[in-house]
Amino acid sequence: MKKVVKFGGTSLADGRQYQKVVDIIKSNSERKVVVVSAPGKRFDDDIKVTDLLIQYAQESQQDGSQTAQTEIITRYQAISDYFQLDAAIFAPILDTILALPDQEFIDPDYRLAYFKAHGEKLNAMLMAMVLQKLGLPARFIDPSQAGLIVSDNANSATVLPETYTNLAQLKYDEEEVLVFPGFFGITPNEQIATFARGGSDITGSIVARGLGISVYENFTDVSSIYVANPKIIDHPAPIAEMTYREMRELSYAGFSVFNDEAIIPAIEGEVTINVKNTNDPQAPGTMIVPEDGFQPQYPITGVTSSNHFSALYLHRYLLNQEVGLTLKLLQIFYKYGISYEHMPSGIDDLTIIFDNRQFNQTTIEQLCQEVQEVLHPDTLKWIDDYSIIMVVGEGMLRQSKAASEAISVLSQKGIPVNMINQGASQISTMIGTSRADADQAVIDIYHHFFKNRKEA
Ligand code: ASP
Repeated sequence: MKKVVKFGGTSLADGRQYQKVVDIIKSNSERKVVVVSAPGKRFDDDIKVTDLLIQYAQESQQDGSQTAQTEIITRYQAISDYFQLDAAIFAPILDTILALPDQEFIDPDYRLAYFKAHGEKLNAMLMAMVLQKLGLPARFIDPSQAGLIVSDNANSATVLPETYTNLAQLKYDEEEVLVFPGFFGITPNEQIATFARGGSDITGSIVARGLGISVYENFTDVSSIYVANPKIIDHPAPIAEMTYREMRELSYAGFSVFNDEAIIPAIEGEVTINVKNTNDPQAPGTMIVPEDGFQPQYPITGVTSSNHFSALYLHRYLLNQEVGLTLKLLQIFYKYGISYEHMPSGIDDLTIIFDNRQFNQTTIEQLCQEVQEVLHPDTLKWIDDYSIIMVVGEGMLRQSKAASEAISVLSQKGIPVNMINQGASQISTMIGTSRADADQAVIDIYHHFFKNRKEA
């Protein structure tokens, strides 16, 4: 049975990390399809190659400074030197880096995507060279040859369905190790377009689904996904197994180990995901599995908080009876190109919660003014200080009291709650708090549900 193995940026940051990856690939002959990120950070203040490429794209159009170009060459060259690749073998990588600014683009967004995608493209070429040197029959697969077709959004593309037909027709030898670059595909107009940042995980799921492979090992730099963020909770309990939808809800609100969009092709292809650690490959990691037959062991699986939200609060008597009110509101959002996340409402009140990364101060002011003019609320308030706490677990389906317990924990601890959203998803409760209270809310909920559970 074949496996897809994907390695994140820190797993490929330098020669030593590369060596661990090579050992992982060699240790199991089922690991025949490899997906790589661009080299990531070697230490906390380091710069990822993707960010260097963004800098290179800017520098090459501005002052001609070569800081980023030199640094990018150094990063790949160091890995090549670690494995003592001949200069002639490495030459195509060097030439490609030097020639990146030569390509002409009408649209600057596609120019940026082209630069960014090369972090993964060159790393996949290099990985194939290293594996070949070590005697493995490895082959670099270019997404354009494999037919990995994505939508026309240069830097936030999504996969198009024809990709799966194309991948199913990919010809390869059973013994070959195929090396795919993560993070990008080709648009129907044959332009390179990338997924959103952190999107190499998505390629792993697409490739597994497309090639009909049912196990996707995602190697990163933690030994498991934890119940809560280890930066907030000291040694949180690890999660051995969780469902796709638990992972989606948790990664939406802050769990960053696995990309939330990457779950979708895995669900469609019934691919089991195993998140593992490159630095501790023997550890079992976390399995992400379908809901059917899943037996939750605990009432909740994870708790997380996310700060990138803002809310618009409206109050007017009999708001609930006004026909077409939501339509008018949505038309305003549509006009400004704004998407909303949640819209909990009462009889006289409505709160709309947004991902605030899509706003600047001017849009906020224009939006509020227009809502005031069109809907005439008695009170209209823009709330910038907004955090969402997500309490997630398949166990909540059976034990509905878990949601009320989480809320009562917060009230006992004196943490004000400004929104509760329960019911749309049966496996999660969303709680709004101020940003200053968010970490403490996670700590209190975690300790309530996990105080007796063995720590990691
Ligand atoms: N290299 C890309 C990024 O830094 C994609 C990834 O690593 O998943 O966002």
